[in-house]
Amino acid sequence: MDCIFCDIIEGKSEAEILFQNENIISFLDIRPVNYGHTLVITKKHYDNFQSVPLEELDHLMKGIQFITSAVVKSVNADGFNLIVNSGKAAGQTIFHFHFHIIPRYLNDFRFKPDFKSYSLGGMKEFADKIRNEINKQKDFFYE
Ligand code: AMP
Ligand code: ZN
Repeated sequence: MDCIFCDIIEGKSEAEILFQNENIISFLDIRPVNYGHTLVITKKHYDNFQSVPLEELDHLMKGIQFITSAVVKSVNADGFNLIVNSGKAAGQTIFHFHFHIIPRYLNDFRFKPDFKSYSLGGMKEFADKIRNEINKQKDFFYE
């Protein structure tokens, strides 16, 4: 499979690796939103968030919590965004699941989404649709 992140894991492609253990690896994003922008990935290849087993998410989260502290402290950031882009529409360009840790500074830049307003009753309508789907899926998830 052609995957630049797998190549980094296998040492076939260079990266500024910050941390790794048997399950995860973390390295600097080559095109940072702010300096110190870091990626954290599983060593096994999963295409996206939905396909990552829970125990792998657990490994990721354990690493992310302390790596984030280290990144924020070392670049003296005021905060951070922890981001997952899942699917092309959401901006995913590398289909090996990853978290972005983006250091943030007061007034550095703004994400500018086109915020919507719900019509009268519209919020409940969307909530009902989602609750329905959750009810269908939750037994499988909690089995
Ligand atoms: P996404 O758009 O969420 O899929 O994020 C992919 C990220 O991987 C982008 O922010 C890229 O800048 C970053 N990236 C792509 N190739 C490399 C590489 N060889 N080393 C480090 N980061 C990379
Ligand atoms: Zn991969």
